[in-house]
Amino acid sequence: MNPKAKITRVETIPVAVPFRVPFKIASGGARPVGENLLVRLHTDQGLAGIGETQAWRRQGSTETFASLKCAIEEHLAPRLIGRSPFELPALVRAMDEALYPALYAKAGIIDGLYDLQGKLLGVPVWQLLGGKCRDAVGACAVLPIKDSLEETLAGADDFHRRGFRSFTVKVGVNAEAEVKLVAAVRERFPSAIIRVDANASMRFDAALALLEKLAPYGLDAAEQMVPMWDLEGMAELARRVPVAIMADECVGTVHDLLEVIKRRAATVMQTKVAKNGGIWHMRMLWTLAHAADMRIYPGNHPSTSVATAAVVHLAAAWPGPLLDGPFAVGISGAFARDVVLEPLSVENGAVRVPDGPGLGVALDEKAIAAMRVDK
Ligand SMILES: [Mg+2]
Repeated sequence: MNPKAKITRVETIPVAVPFRVPFKIASGGARPVGENLLVRLHTDQGLAGIGETQAWRRQGSTETFASLKCAIEEHLAPRLIGRSPFELPALVRAMDEALYPALYAKAGIIDGLYDLQGKLLGVPVWQLLGGKCRDAVGACAVLPIKDSLEETLAGADDFHRRGFRSFTVKVGVNAEAEVKLVAAVRERFPSAIIRVDANASMRFDAALALLEKLAPYGLDAAEQMVPMWDLEGMAELARRVPVAIMADECVGTVHDLLEVIKRRAATVMQTKVAKNGGIWHMRMLWTLAHAADMRIYPGNHPSTSVATAAVVHLAAAWPGPLLDGPFAVGISGAFARDVVLEPLSVENGAVRVPDGPGLGVALDEKAIAAMRVDK
């Protein structure tokens, strides 16, 4: 437990994590695997910190394993070697000088630094963030796009049996079928919270028409209906439909969020570990969103227990309200495997906050060896 530790090496570990069933959102085909990149920060004290990011390509992210590895190993790691993990703010600044914003690459490093600080001090990350305000963090179920309404409803039934009471329905491909689907989900679960997510795939007029049809079914929010660059379109949707508009793809940096706020383009904001650059940057976004009276929806690209834990610790230390977000989409049924010895799980719609040192998860070397793609 030596706080004088120095970082000696930054290791990247690319793993192809299989989906239980190929995962489809509006853009692109169904994905058979998640391309998740673990980052391990080695020290001269023997302890290592771990973080996670993802090469999850869609509007707003063009990352590949190769691009993340290059950014981390060639541009960011040289700013960390020989430095103390307890210099986190200075290390963030040094990384910004090397590459900006490069949030996907920084995410794994930054959360790895929090994990390392916690392990060196023997305290959980939520303690580093000031303390714990909750013991469990509510999660929603994500219903990816399927070939038939029956298949999607069967998935919703399964989530409901496991205690989920909030659903995010992926839309943006076939409006007629999606209206029937949302109507069917509402009929089956009259008191459930239902949100839709078009993943930036719709034209303004099509999004407006769809939301007008969906509004009577009681949507809590509509997520990124139009492309990330169409903030005016989001603002107009917000004025014209009685459904709260959520920003996801269009918010990377705090500057992006400021634009959303200035234009009143959304009243709900989603963060993700990879998209937004880890705990350090997500906390800034949450603070800014809170100041603008926006609701906060903690999300993630499909993640292993490592990036899921990062959101859970941040949420544990957050004093304000949070929506039941899709931060646990990977561990709640989308992924068939995990990379840690004791995976986090969703019980009655919530993830318990880990109390072990750092992020509170330990890598399962056997599982990693089976899923590594750079063997
Ligand atoms: Mg989204």
